[in-house]
Amino acid sequence: MRVFLNPGHAPDGNPDPGACGYGLRECDVAKNVADLAAGYLTAAGVEVVGSLQSDSLHEVVTASNHSDADVFLSIHCNACNGSANGTEVWHFYGSGAGETLASCIQNQIVTSLGTTDRGTKGAKPGVNGLYVLSNTDAVAVLVELAFIDHAGDAQLLRSQQDDFARAIARGVTDYEGAC
Ligand SMILES: [Zn+2]
Repeated sequence: MRVFLNPGHAPDGNPDPGACGYGLRECDVAKNVADLAAGYLTAAGVEVVGSLQSDSLHEVVTASNHSDADVFLSIHCNACNGSANGTEVWHFYGSGAGETLASCIQNQIVTSLGTTDRGTKGAKPGVNGLYVLSNTDAVAVLVELAFIDHAGDAQLLRSQQDDFARAIARGVTDYEGAC
């Protein structure tokens, strides 16, 4: 199985760091977790065919489609009002494979990190569509690890990036075994 990784937002936060909280920037957390996950996926025998963090989502999608990836993973942190917390994984609305992949990753993260289970969610073009899910050929999910502006979640995002990465890699291998 071939996996393409997309840490959210711009490299080194320029011009877009994504959400920020408790001294953390989403772009940095996403990049580190994606890099660590790439290592665990490779160790598990999964082929990582590319990883791109870019402000241009068109560039990201084009690179993934040209890599002939089977699975596309976009890594993000959520933010809201300081009290919302937990993990959610988005898939393309109506994609059964996407929903399975999302569930595998969601279950691994909430089990190993103990985050609130906000469930998997379908992104429907024209309603709540997500560009990277609507335009990738691969089975695509967008992982919202936890809330960067929530004190407890931010602590996990600061100190347990390795555990998030391992959980994502296990979710992908669970998916591989399920299909
Ligand atoms: Zn984001």
